[in-house]
Amino acid sequence: MSRTINVLFLAAEADPFIKVGGLGDVSGVLPRELRALSNEELKLDVRLVLPYHPAVKAENLRPVEIFSIPRGDSEVAVEAFETTLNGMPVYFIGGEPIRANGSVYSLDATKDADKYAFFSLAAMELPKHINWQPDVVHANDWHTALSLYVNLTKRWESGSKHVAGVLTLHNLPFMGADVSAILESYGIKLAQTDLPEWARVLPLPLGLWASDAIVAVSPGYAGEVLTEEFGCGLQEFLGVRKETLSGVLNGIDTVSFDPATDKSISINFNLPTLKRRAENKELLQEKLGLTRNPNIPLLAVISRMDVQKGVDLAFTALKNMKRIDFQAVILGTGDPKLEESARELQTLFPDKIKAELRFDAALARQIYAGADMILMPSRYEPCGLAQMIAMRYGCVPIVRAVGGLKDTVIPKETGFVFEKAHHMSLVSAIKAAMKVLPDKEKWEALQRNGMAKDFSWEASAREYLKLYLSLVK
Ligand code: ADP
Repeated sequence: MSRTINVLFLAAEADPFIKVGGLGDVSGVLPRELRALSNEELKLDVRLVLPYHPAVKAENLRPVEIFSIPRGDSEVAVEAFETTLNGMPVYFIGGEPIRANGSVYSLDATKDADKYAFFSLAAMELPKHINWQPDVVHANDWHTALSLYVNLTKRWESGSKHVAGVLTLHNLPFMGADVSAILESYGIKLAQTDLPEWARVLPLPLGLWASDAIVAVSPGYAGEVLTEEFGCGLQEFLGVRKETLSGVLNGIDTVSFDPATDKSISINFNLPTLKRRAENKELLQEKLGLTRNPNIPLLAVISRMDVQKGVDLAFTALKNMKRIDFQAVILGTGDPKLEESARELQTLFPDKIKAELRFDAALARQIYAGADMILMPSRYEPCGLAQMIAMRYGCVPIVRAVGGLKDTVIPKETGFVFEKAHHMSLVSAIKAAMKVLPDKEKWEALQRNGMAKDFSWEASAREYLKLYLSLVK
């Protein structure tokens, strides 16, 4: 007999409707990959719910219904719309609190509190209006975490059916702002929780508290959030919930990121034609205004300019490699101070280092397809996609042993791994890589091992399915 699991998947952003960062990639792909696992015995009806941000691009939107949720002595109107994405129902929740603050995220989390609280509460009312009941509510990060809080507290109040709550942690340090007044205005009480006192009013901790399962985006990160270094003050609380905490690695879009078909790169290649990759390196050198020479190691940084990513360590490392023959390209935008440091590096080493301070998806692909190594000295890294994309394109990663980097890069097999968040540790790892590089056979083995790894979403979706099944037994 066939059975169905209904999953309400909530996120602040999802590709192709609206994408700001990595969360958009995950929420754009994972729900569809989950649905694709459906078979004759088990149907996975995953439906995506997103805020109707002013910047959302969606076609064929149909109004579902206008309903309202009570707030204070009044109520707030919820405008719900529906569309489909490759057969998956996608809902958009619109309303004044979402329109009021145009951007997807503000730098100031207090500005986002009202919007995402409204979204999370309204999304939990949606099922009633579409005649469809979820078995699982799957929220992502702080923006949608309050849905789980409401899922639990309302159940306690009304004795309704158990709906399992899953919270995926993409980035623990971002917990949202104090929502106690907002919750009160919606008539939702703050529960007695075993959270640290400061955390009892924040969306992410409240969602963690209310969830049946917590998923970190890599097994490595799942272990790290239990430590003082990475736990952001919630390590003890998470320690108590350890049994419900697991790690599921994100995947990459292996169709889009495929060196055999990628239209952004000049020379397509795959495992049998790996030798042709060298042509991409020379074309990249030429494009960047660097000397065309297959034998000079070409290093890359493709990253947000953010201290989280350790790009400052990468810059200091490069500065300390004066006597070494190398070339480097830095592609990224972000913190103006870090951008300035990248510019200074280029000025200091005009023949060796190029700083491309912009978002440029095509150039990123050309770098993955042409550079010898990519540097990822992250201070923390919940999962990290760049190292997986790099491996798929035969660009060997040099990473710090942290979070998802540690889980995806195997020392001496697919890349180089170092421990300390210190530029000299990175320099040592770069030197170790440069020692192997001239040995064509050994280097190719590193590239081939990385290219052969399965970083597809299907593998991740199977892990999530196992989790859902354990929750709805
Ligand atoms: P994070 O999500 O922390 O920024 P990830 O490694 O998970 O880091 O994902 C970053 C993604 O963004 C990768 O696909 C990377 O190629 C891409 N990226 C980062 N900076 C740029 C840029 N300046 N131009 C093009 N792509 C970029």
